[in-house]
Amino acid sequence: MRRLRIGILDLVTKGPTRALWARVMHPNMASIMPQVVGVWCEEEGHSVSFVCYTGFEDLMAELPRNIDLLFVSAFSQAAQTAYAISNLFRRRGTVTALGGPHARCYPEDAALYFDYVFGFTDKATLQSALDDCRPHRPVGVRLSAEHQPDTLPGMRQRWKFIEPTIAKAPAIQIVPMIGSLGCPYTCSFCIDSTVDYQPLGFAQITDDLKFLRTKLERPRVAWHDPNFGVRFNDYMDAIEAAGPPGCVDHIAESSLSILSEPHLKRMQRNGVKAILPGIESWYDLGNKSKTGAQRGMDKVRQVADHVNLIARYIPYIQTNFVLGLDVDQGAEPFELTKRFVDLAPVALPGYSLLSAFGRAAPLNLEYQRAGRVLPFPFHFLNNNSAMNVRPRNYDWRTFYDYVIDLTRYTFSWRVIGRRFAATRETIPKWMNVVRAVSSEGFGRVRHYTTVRRLLDTDSSIQAYFEGETNTLPGFFVDKIRRDLGPLWEFLPEGALSHNPLAYLESTAGGFVTMSGARAAAEPA
Ligand code: SF4
Repeated sequence: MRRLRIGILDLVTKGPTRALWARVMHPNMASIMPQVVGVWCEEEGHSVSFVCYTGFEDLMAELPRNIDLLFVSAFSQAAQTAYAISNLFRRRGTVTALGGPHARCYPEDAALYFDYVFGFTDKATLQSALDDCRPHRPVGVRLSAEHQPDTLPGMRQRWKFIEPTIAKAPAIQIVPMIGSLGCPYTCSFCIDSTVDYQPLGFAQITDDLKFLRTKLERPRVAWHDPNFGVRFNDYMDAIEAAGPPGCVDHIAESSLSILSEPHLKRMQRNGVKAILPGIESWYDLGNKSKTGAQRGMDKVRQVADHVNLIARYIPYIQTNFVLGLDVDQGAEPFELTKRFVDLAPVALPGYSLLSAFGRAAPLNLEYQRAGRVLPFPFHFLNNNSAMNVRPRNYDWRTFYDYVIDLTRYTFSWRVIGRRFAATRETIPKWMNVVRAVSSEGFGRVRHYTTVRRLLDTDSSIQAYFEGETNTLPGFFVDKIRRDLGPLWEFLPEGALSHNPLAYLESTAGGFVTMSGARAAAEPA
């Protein structure tokens, strides 16, 4: 067996930043799978160097040289960064591989720039690439297991990659943790809605937490489960078995349907400090928010009451919404969200513009069929820099007016003050202020306002938003050039654009499964 020198790059972000929120939180947002891949590669006898890029490192200096294989993990917003890095390394003779959400959502495009593109990745799938490890150009090999892995290496094994990453966090260190994959709910826009719910082993959770307590005085963990606590009692039993109540602080995304008062009491006892329920819409998705058929203002009142109940037990709450869903029409959904902000001042609303991430969700096929998906470069697909689905019930100007109005309202000093007063604990109070004045609050108002102005003044922007041209307006090209910095010169030709209909046009269903992987790796 050839002993490979392997580099692993976890792209938490797409380029250099100075944002305060990024400084505080990016090191806490590392992905778990790159660490898992690192463990599996070492288990196979290969040497691994690991870099988690948070936007503050000199990427060109930190990237390992003289490696045989480079793994990159990226969300779609970091795709252009990833493509440039892959090109740089391929020029140096390195074989490159891409995993993570972008690889799952846009495998056809990623295969143009990487030798291997991973869908669901278990150890056997990884092994097939390690054994093969050679260039596949001009089109890379797409590999996927038939489903998500049954188990993942625990904290004990991943610690060597976790420790240097969280050491970059200046104030608050948060360790990534996972107990399950997939979700039993079927929110049509969500990448996890089509992945079967699967716990990864409750004994592992206990062991992970026990181990962590030997490393950090009072650990904080962020659960990467798509929906934390689906098997609620099993989760709480596993946490309670790891030590005295509250010995670890927990942050998790969980649906309101899980957050009943008895559950909240047990979560409080066990140190759950932050929770991020998805509300998404005032007219739809009532099952996950436990509001059934309630709609409109009735749902607002019920959810606000529920959120205020949660606040009695859990100090930090972020409520997630999607703006521009097909059920939305006119000013009402935005006004309802403002009423929610009034009625539940403790919650920090997280707004996402409706986006279709390639083959992430079956709903995207409908958008593609209807010709509503715009070819915005991946760089802008972060739920707020651009919206790549034309809204069904709004023209762009009106839509942006509503979005700006809602964002301004949510991050006005009056509302920031009410949120500060309504939040009980010091760190959550100040986290909300930092988020409001940083890129997420004020920064988005600035960005949306700029886009809105350009919709009036720049005909190339108007035409692009209306789908009349695929020529990317200079405003967006300049932004990518600035964000990529020295990597811009390595961006391969054609890598700014992609086929937004690739999912619809694919006939083979995307990935080959393991049984077909070897055949697909051979030249035709
Ligand atoms: S509840 Fe959350 S994780 Fe589950 S399908 Fe809906 S959005 Fe996705």
